[in-house]
Amino acid sequence: MSDYAETIIIGGGLSGLSLARFLDNRCLVLEAEERPGGLCRSFENQGFTYDIGGHILFSRDQGLLDTLLGWLGDNRLTQRRNNQIWFRDRFVKYPFENDLAALDKNDAFDCLMGFLARNAGGKPANLEEWSRFRFGDGISDKYLLPYNDKIWKRPARDISVHWVERIPSPPLEDVVKSAIGIETEGYTHQLNFHYPRTGGIEALIRGLAHGAPLVNGCRVSRIKKTGDGWEVSDGGRVYGCRNLASTLAPWDLLACLEGVPQAVSQAAGRLVYNSIILVMLGVGHQGLMDKSAVYIPDPERLPHRVCYMSYFSAGNAPRGCSNLVAEITAPPGDPLLQADDAWLIERTLQDVAELCGIKPGEVVAAQVRRIPYAYVVYDLDYLANRGKVYAWLAEQGIQVCGRWGRFEYLNMDQCVEKARGLARALKAA
Ligand SMILES: Cc1cc2nc3c(=O)[nH]c(=O)nc-3n(C[C@H](O)[C@H](O)[C@H](O)COP(=O)(O)OP(=O)(O)OC[C@H]3O[C@@H](n4cnc5c(N)ncnc54)[C@H](O)[C@@H]3O)c2cc1C
Repeated sequence: MSDYAETIIIGGGLSGLSLARFLDNRCLVLEAEERPGGLCRSFENQGFTYDIGGHILFSRDQGLLDTLLGWLGDNRLTQRRNNQIWFRDRFVKYPFENDLAALDKNDAFDCLMGFLARNAGGKPANLEEWSRFRFGDGISDKYLLPYNDKIWKRPARDISVHWVERIPSPPLEDVVKSAIGIETEGYTHQLNFHYPRTGGIEALIRGLAHGAPLVNGCRVSRIKKTGDGWEVSDGGRVYGCRNLASTLAPWDLLACLEGVPQAVSQAAGRLVYNSIILVMLGVGHQGLMDKSAVYIPDPERLPHRVCYMSYFSAGNAPRGCSNLVAEITAPPGDPLLQADDAWLIERTLQDVAELCGIKPGEVVAAQVRRIPYAYVVYDLDYLANRGKVYAWLAEQGIQVCGRWGRFEYLNMDQCVEKARGLARALKAA
């Protein structure tokens, strides 16, 4: 054996690196890629900087947010959310239910009537029912359900509701005010967000990775239990440890282990997730600096959202220019993931040119990236399948952490919170 550490962390994304930091770096982080960051990496193309879908920093927990911002040092900005929804032929302020007066009068009437007639006390069995009980039929049919179909790539009636309580309920008073044109905000915990001044969201990773015990280019492929710990290897070098923490997707982790019961592998194989295609566009004017993001429920347009990277920070575009990243989800194996880059760029431009104010010939840089693991999907069997896999991993004594490690739809602050909790548990053991 060539290297030993008290704890080995597999994966050098935000979760793995923050866990290392909370363990005072008394560990080893093994990362498959040549640079750490995972979903928090940023990419430069012809002077434009893009994230994997536009990553903003926010949290309900101020202490946690301060920790994250501390890793950015002075390299940070605070911005006000200005998200819009492109609905039919116009912009509606996000969240939709807080700007009903912007709709055509008939649409606004349907939304308000639906909201007033909703079955607020109903017990929903799936996301569609939840949407109708919480927001009413008008808001659900016009916006929420079409938008959710686009993100999850499956009908909302096939999505579970165990997680939705974290979505705030709009007060009746706000919805009525919004329908008659009195301004309300909604979702105020994201009203202001933070973002690096330069370097995209990867600047956060650079702050965190500084001094971390990190081995890049180490794609773990084999994990073996030893008498008092674990041996971990990428097929070449072998590392030993007492504690093992994984941020890998469960099926990838199981593929490294021996003796996995068939029922556990099958349950992991039934977990559902989506990939994402990112179409990154830079334009030779500053038109993409007046909004943070535009949500696009229209099923005829490919992207479900575009994020204006140059609104997050003007540092994301060269002087006089601006940029956006369009997000298109796809289930693994979807032929769209194999589509030609030039076709994806052309099609995205057709779909967003009007609403983003981009004229032919104004695009000065364009690039496509495909990210295999983007969104955990909470299908109706999620809890049962996840339960089987994680009960077995817990029996083996393998710790898990992060969005893919835990197979939970976690944002950055929640990844860091879970990493902090795991570090405390490991230190106390
Ligand atoms: C489109 C999109 C937009 C998002 N926007 C936001 C946002 O605005 N705000 C927010 O808070 N959060 C956002 N998130 C969520 C955020 O990106 C994640 O919560 C976070 O980055 C997850 O970090 P992680 O370390 O858990 O996982 P990952 O980032 O996936 O890290 C896992 C790491 O493991 C490595 N790895 C994989 N296999 C192996 C192997 N065999 N051996 C060694 N290493 C391996 C990978 O290379 C990777 O570096 C967004 C996510 C997506 C997809």
